[in-house]
Amino acid sequence: MSQVLLITGGSRGIGAATALLAAQQGYAVAVNYRQDAGAAQQVVSAIQDSGGRAVALQADVSSESDVERMFREAAQQLGTLSALVNNAGILEQQTRVEHLDAARLKRIFETNVIGSFLCAREAVRWMSTRHGGQGGAIVNVSSRAAVLGSAGEYVDYAASKGAVDTLTIGLAHEVAGEGIRVNGVRPGLITTDMHASGGEPGRVARLSKGVPMGRGGTPEEVARAILWLLSAEASFTTGAILDVSGGR
Ligand code: NDP
Repeated sequence: MSQVLLITGGSRGIGAATALLAAQQGYAVAVNYRQDAGAAQQVVSAIQDSGGRAVALQADVSSESDVERMFREAAQQLGTLSALVNNAGILEQQTRVEHLDAARLKRIFETNVIGSFLCAREAVRWMSTRHGGQGGAIVNVSSRAAVLGSAGEYVDYAASKGAVDTLTIGLAHEVAGEGIRVNGVRPGLITTDMHASGGEPGRVARLSKGVPMGRGGTPEEVARAILWLLSAEASFTTGAILDVSGGR
């Protein structure tokens, strides 16, 4: 039986690259998306065309009922879950703190933080040996912004990723004795659609100048780090957060 991975926000960018690499490594993959069914189906079709197993599952990760349903559907359609990647995340237009309002803060925290918590909770319910499960691994996708703070750009997003890092460390300790490892990655600048929402033309070129390696990373470079943390190669690694940032 192949291992089963559920990846949130698997329809584009880092999530899509991770879904494709996981399938190459033999995982059956549940590809979650929020609204773009076509993009998710493209990822699923690419996996199936290469002989892999995958399904597209719609769910808004900030909705408790959606998340519970998604985990049930993943188990029904692919089998026992062994891995979760909490990748779904949003970023809004860059702005200073004076222009932030509660509605924006709620949107950011609902997807990035509450979404990660709800999916992690559901994964523990399915995977923990404490509940009769067979163990597994979780990777939370954070950001270098959690450490850098993103002053003048999106402190709200940075703070949400700080919360994701704390979830990684706390949950890792909580379930370490139950067969579940929990780790994180902190991507730096990665060339995906997400930067289109930053509201600044030439943004990627400008930010690349601040990366010691002098370029943005690719989604595949982040995917490789995620897959390593999920794998048995990382069997004694839990509560760790790996920077994938070209030295930034
Ligand atoms: P993209 O904007 O390219 O893709 C985001 C994905 O998340 C899409 O599949 C989208 O689905 C999904 N999504 C968004 N909100 C929800 C939700 N509420 N419920 C379910 N799915 C949702 O993002 P990236 O690939 O760039 O980023 C992936 C992760 O990496 C994020 O957590 C991001 O914060 C993090 N990151 C990215 C960096 C970068 O430079 N790109 C740097 C550091 C961290 P749909 O299209 O259907 O809405």
